[in-house]
Amino acid sequence: MFSKILIANRGEIACRVIRTARRMGIKTVAVFSDADAQSMHVAEADEAVHIGASPVGESYLRGDRIIKAALSTGAEAIHPGYGFLSENPDFVDQVMAAGLTFIGPSADSIRAMGLKDAAKRLMEKAGVPVVPGWHGDGQALVLLAGKAREIGYPVLIKARAGGGGRGMRRVDDPDGFADALAGAKREAKAAFGDDAVLIEKYVEKPRHIEVQVFGDNHGNAVHLFERDCSAQRRHQKVIEEAPAPGITPEMRAAITDAAVKAALAIGYSGAGTIEFIVDASEGLRPDRFWFMEMNTRLQVEHPVTEMVTGVDLVEWQLRVAAGEPLPLAQDQIRLDGHAFEARIYAEDAAKGFLPATGTLHHLRFPSHAPRGAEMRVETGVRQGDAISPFYDPMIAKLVVKASGRATALSALVEALGETEIAGTIANVPFLVALASDDDFASGDVDTGLIGRKQEELTRIAPPSPHVDALAALAASGAKPRISAQDPWDALSGYAHFHPVRRRVDLRSGPDEVSFSVTARRDGRYEIAGADSSMLMAADDQAADARTARWPGHVTVFEGAVGHSFAIPDPFEAAEEAGAGGDALRAPMPGLVKIARVAVGDSVSKGHALLVLEAMKMEHTISAPHDGKVEEIAAEGAQVSEGTVLVRFAEG
Ligand code: ADP
Repeated sequence: MFSKILIANRGEIACRVIRTARRMGIKTVAVFSDADAQSMHVAEADEAVHIGASPVGESYLRGDRIIKAALSTGAEAIHPGYGFLSENPDFVDQVMAAGLTFIGPSADSIRAMGLKDAAKRLMEKAGVPVVPGWHGDGQALVLLAGKAREIGYPVLIKARAGGGGRGMRRVDDPDGFADALAGAKREAKAAFGDDAVLIEKYVEKPRHIEVQVFGDNHGNAVHLFERDCSAQRRHQKVIEEAPAPGITPEMRAAITDAAVKAALAIGYSGAGTIEFIVDASEGLRPDRFWFMEMNTRLQVEHPVTEMVTGVDLVEWQLRVAAGEPLPLAQDQIRLDGHAFEARIYAEDAAKGFLPATGTLHHLRFPSHAPRGAEMRVETGVRQGDAISPFYDPMIAKLVVKASGRATALSALVEALGETEIAGTIANVPFLVALASDDDFASGDVDTGLIGRKQEELTRIAPPSPHVDALAALAASGAKPRISAQDPWDALSGYAHFHPVRRRVDLRSGPDEVSFSVTARRDGRYEIAGADSSMLMAADDQAADARTARWPGHVTVFEGAVGHSFAIPDPFEAAEEAGAGGDALRAPMPGLVKIARVAVGDSVSKGHALLVLEAMKMEHTISAPHDGKVEEIAAEGAQVSEGTVLVRFAEG
């Protein structure tokens, strides 16, 4: 076994690999970019090496620097995690040429599965069912249009080099074919530098079912059952589960058998996933699934398989890479219970799942598993860490397992409801809505489910007057009572030099609400708004809602929904004025794309001052009133949230 490995990745997957390595007595080396210098994976590894600037092209995709880091620290092998360099055969060749071990399949296996058309031809030869269609070399419009007609509409045009759903077009009738083909080719050329396509029958009511396979260097290959990943938004998975709901023993035997055949056909070594598309229009049938593609790495959703098999897949990866045979034979691998994984992202579900950034000022996961369930939280961030614009905005994966599907699903809903995230927008309410959806709960899933119900699944009710009042109480600085003290003590923050009545202004989106919070002699507070008034004890809040204070804000958690309110702070404004004029601060971490003005310029209200790029989107910062520019951030500067972008004096 290795004594030291390097992990060429970041975030939760780097932390995940470190955990198993540590248990096995293997030392770990992390690599990190500028943005990740203080990150969790760096803190958890035994050693860490800086490999470059924050953009992935200058750090996590720099195979040369990663190999150099492994050699200089004495690591014997490199674990690629997922994404980044994990499916890059040239990187595998370079790792081997440097005398290191790649913890994953051979470069040849990755190449064999790299292009969708070649992979389908290979699978056909191995006797694995592939989606009916055309995956030959010819690319002329007349040929492809003829093939589409033969296959029968609707069809799907796919880029052979495709990934992430790019270069993919559904076509419903012959009239739309030429345009769709041109569009798919244009997109494929731009994304992959290769515009060759294949044509597939469009599968109706499609389910995405994949099989976890494992091979070793001694000619063995096994499967570890299936996962269902049909809950997708924008062709990306959100909640995965194992086993697949409604699968019959015949269907399981057929699909896992096909997957093992596929792995054996390419002499596969290590962890891999065979993805199938399944026509579920008449339930799951053994003659209605087809090979789509193989992922030659560990998947994001691998924990659900670990939960139901009891196998540590990272341990198997390390053992196989070190030359050991597979730890278990096929008949020793058992399936027990049902597991779900929910991917918690920083994103605005209601705005089309728009990725978000921000500092995780408040981050709390359930302290224990729901009753009757097991739970794992896979994360690479801690409270206070930032979700930066440079990387995938995943915050955590919440994984639960129980004896049956219904129990596991209610455990998932319960655990999500106890998750608290403030400082960025998270998709937790959407995940709860999806997990609580009738069709999802009954196992009637297909890849179009989220798209059809998007509006209803992403809708969030505005905060109730009760939530507003709780926010006002928390914002007023009221502290939970330690004992039956007099309220002057509870209000110690300001009680000595202010009356016990305090005005609180809160902003929630475009709405402003004002309250007056009054401490009463009986230890309770009276919270009076424009048209209602409530009595609460500061420590009563725990009963049905939880609150979190963070700089300039308060968040009230009601179940899975976090309602955030901004608290305009008069002291902060005064400080800014004293420091010389108005300061416009970065609302999120980003890159200063364009500085439109210079120090000394006089600008009028509304004038565009600077363009900040964050999460691949541009935000224009404009002057709130007339003034003279005293300070401006440099073009090309990477700024963190709260950094002063422009400071200018009135007049
Ligand atoms: P990519 O590599 O770009 O992610 P895939 O081939 O993996 O593309 O397909 C992505 C998703 O598109 C699948 O999970 C499925 O939801 C849908 N899809 C793919 N092929 C078909 C098909 N033939 N019919 C219907 N839907 C399909």
